[in-house]
Amino acid sequence: MSPTDTAASQALTSQQVVDLTRQYNYGTWRFQRNWNPMHIADAEGCYLIDGSGKRYLDFSSQLMCSNLGHKNQAVIDAIAHQAQQLSYAMPGYATTARAELSQLLAEILPKGLRKFFFTTSGTEANEAAFKIARMYTGKSKIIARYRSYHGSTIGSIAATGDPRRWAMEPGGKGPGVIFAPEVNCYKCPIRHTYPGCNIACADYIEHMIRNESDVAAVLVEPIVGTNGVLVPPDEYMPKLRRICDENGVLLIADEVMTGWGRTGEWFAMNHWSVIPDILVTAKGITSAYVPLGLCATSEKIAEFFQDHFFSHGHTYEAHPITLAPAVACIHEMQRLNLVERARELAPYVEAKLNDLKSKHRSIGDVRGKGLFWAVDMVKDRTTKEPFNTYADKVSGKSLVVDQIAAKMLADGVTIQAWVSHFVIAPPLIVTKEEIDRGIATLDKHLTIADEAASPS
Ligand code: PMP
Repeated sequence: MSPTDTAASQALTSQQVVDLTRQYNYGTWRFQRNWNPMHIADAEGCYLIDGSGKRYLDFSSQLMCSNLGHKNQAVIDAIAHQAQQLSYAMPGYATTARAELSQLLAEILPKGLRKFFFTTSGTEANEAAFKIARMYTGKSKIIARYRSYHGSTIGSIAATGDPRRWAMEPGGKGPGVIFAPEVNCYKCPIRHTYPGCNIACADYIEHMIRNESDVAAVLVEPIVGTNGVLVPPDEYMPKLRRICDENGVLLIADEVMTGWGRTGEWFAMNHWSVIPDILVTAKGITSAYVPLGLCATSEKIAEFFQDHFFSHGHTYEAHPITLAPAVACIHEMQRLNLVERARELAPYVEAKLNDLKSKHRSIGDVRGKGLFWAVDMVKDRTTKEPFNTYADKVSGKSLVVDQIAAKMLADGVTIQAWVSHFVIAPPLIVTKEEIDRGIATLDKHLTIADEAASPS
């Protein structure tokens, strides 16, 4: 057992930790029977440390959230200080932590987003956004896109355009949510080719707004996350902003994964200088030290609620222990220049991944921005057919990407494998040597996929 493991858990062996976890807890998005979680006893910087002391390079920042890396002393101190000072006050009171964080957010968020609602997850922040959009517009429909993820509660999974939704509502979409085609230039869902397409996928959204009544908002991940790091062409987001403005519809940007320097800007929407009416974020806001989500709204929405009832709230909204470390995280990101760092390391990662693609026929595409990249795996480069689909996952089949991730784990590198692609998103403090090591480990095990792919 690691010497730094907590006193409370020192009585348990690693095997007992794993056994008790399996006995009493649900492993999410999986069959329970084959869940065999690794015991993580410690972590520091870009590394996780298991119960035997073995270190693992974290090549995806866990769930693309540990942006600052582990054991940042300033963040730990902020948590301890806040716990000693004031661990909780109900949200109707004013607290120093909320005031300080809000002041900082008003400086860092895209200009004009100036009134904030704090939650404890990205999912809840999206739920708040949907309700606020509906209260503000008096309309009910949300246009979301296929190949998106917005959370796992009834409302947010209903707005999620990927197969994870199907288990919740067999065959159906949630009330009030309609789906538009995703923006995906590698596999365009409407069979167009950029740039000749003139961003027809955005025009389609305008067509939907005009032919549906009652549309409150268009909801987008600026760069789609779990569904494959889909980066839109530069014209897409400004065009969508114009469409929303011309049709009186709100634009909601779900920056749960893309916020906080991940893409080489504080927020991904900054790449296109587009300001959404509502920006939702979580994950990197505290680098996952504590659970915090944020729903930030524009001036006009803030104004509206001056004299309209704000019908929403939680016991743990704006919990001081979640807010104080966010202030420390922002200061640490500024001190360490992490947003610039993500931007500067991007060409290095891109070149390495393109090299990898030229060596391995099982890679169909590599794409990304900042320190946020996907390696898209295909059985056949011509047809772009993936090795596996979500249907394979829910039928319990062994997925090619999971086989590779397991080999990488044995070699001391953790990577997010998502059905048909890998997400490469190390903590923003990562060094070039660590990037080299992570990519070399992927390189080594891609032969598993190459052998299963058609000759290109
Ligand atoms: N939106 C996006 C874009 C996400 O990536 C996620 C989580 N992966 C969520 C919402 C949900 O956030 P949480 O898991 O914190 O509820």
